[in-house]
Amino acid sequence: VKPIVFLDRDGTILVEPTDDFRIKSFDRFEFMPNVIEALKKIQSLNIYHFVLVTNQDGLGSDTYPLEHFEPFQEKMLQVLASNGISFLGIHIDVSTVQDNKNTRKPGIGMLSNYIDNQDMFNIKNSIVIGDSKTDIQLAKNLGCASILIENEHNTESYSSFTEDEEKAIIFRSNSWEKIREFIVDLHHI
Ligand SMILES: [Mg+2]
Repeated sequence: VKPIVFLDRDGTILVEPTDDFRIKSFDRFEFMPNVIEALKKIQSLNIYHFVLVTNQDGLGSDTYPLEHFEPFQEKMLQVLASNGISFLGIHIDVSTVQDNKNTRKPGIGMLSNYIDNQDMFNIKNSIVIGDSKTDIQLAKNLGCASILIENEHNTESYSSFTEDEEKAIIFRSNSWEKIREFIVDLHHI
């Protein structure tokens, strides 16, 4: 029964563009500093499953066609796989805020397979890692902990965490190196 590291994608694994937030060309494709090394180390602990959870507002529509997503998603998975990093599940919500769907983070609609099978997955000891308020709220909704990647472009939203959300945050940093150390230390390795 392993816990899960639920990973956000944009602003967490890949650098999020600051104009329209979309990685839609290869000149906008960039891994976060030290993320590959960190994920490699965390996966090598053999403690956690990795699950990717990302909101991609309106993906597949005219304004956000699949060609603006798939080549870069594929490239990311390829690079990660070549470093021995793999995901048990990849969950992509394509709805928008207006759709008001439970599949969209912080909703847990995409994650029922894990929640409903807690004889197989240790949700309580799982960790959501992300750079947005929605990631922290996702952790709260799952009943697990969270690690906040402090993205300088999101700082304003961090000041509005509720007490419960703050409580769910076990570590915050802008450095994947520090996050790696924190998770390793968590297990006294
Ligand atoms: Mg993000």
